[in-house]
Amino acid sequence: MNVADLLRRPGSTREVHLEVPVPGLENPATTVDANEPLTIDLRLESLSAAVVASGHVQGRWRAVCSRCLAPLEADFDLALREVFEEDPIEEETYPLRNDEIDLEQPLRDLVVPELPLVPLCDEDCQGLCPSCGANLNEGPCGCGSESRDPRWDALRAFAVSEDAEPRPEPN
Ligand SMILES: [Zn+2]
Ligand SMILES: [Zn+2]
Repeated sequence: MNVADLLRRPGSTREVHLEVPVPGLENPATTVDANEPLTIDLRLESLSAAVVASGHVQGRWRAVCSRCLAPLEADFDLALREVFEEDPIEEETYPLRNDEIDLEQPLRDLVVPELPLVPLCDEDCQGLCPSCGANLNEGPCGCGSESRDPRWDALRAFAVSEDAEPRPEPN
């Protein structure tokens, strides 16, 4: 995005509305479809040798529930405020080169940390039966395998080890 006009007149602003797909918005569990545009509304303001971009970025991510594999999707709306300058400060500001700013990296830095790493259809999702693969949200599967809530696994392991090695009573 060329910002030469802004830089010629420090203090000037420009409103920007973009609907563009941004590649690489994903983590191992969740993806913003590469063909699905982000809606970007920004106000660009020039300082003497920098441009401040502030506004909102909206989009939609898709994933599958990490317990029951049901397809999931959700809208997001994130606030963005970034500074672009000729000598950027690492991890703080972004480069301004040849009177141009590139929104791709800042958008990635904004959106990717907000994508769920463990997407769930519901906090109480019962997941799939480990034996028969039935969706336990739809009821017990009847295959004989004990249905259980995976969130209790850690506690169950703790309880077993406590039984095996009883600690001395505190004084
Ligand atoms: Zn689920
Ligand atoms: Zn089963």
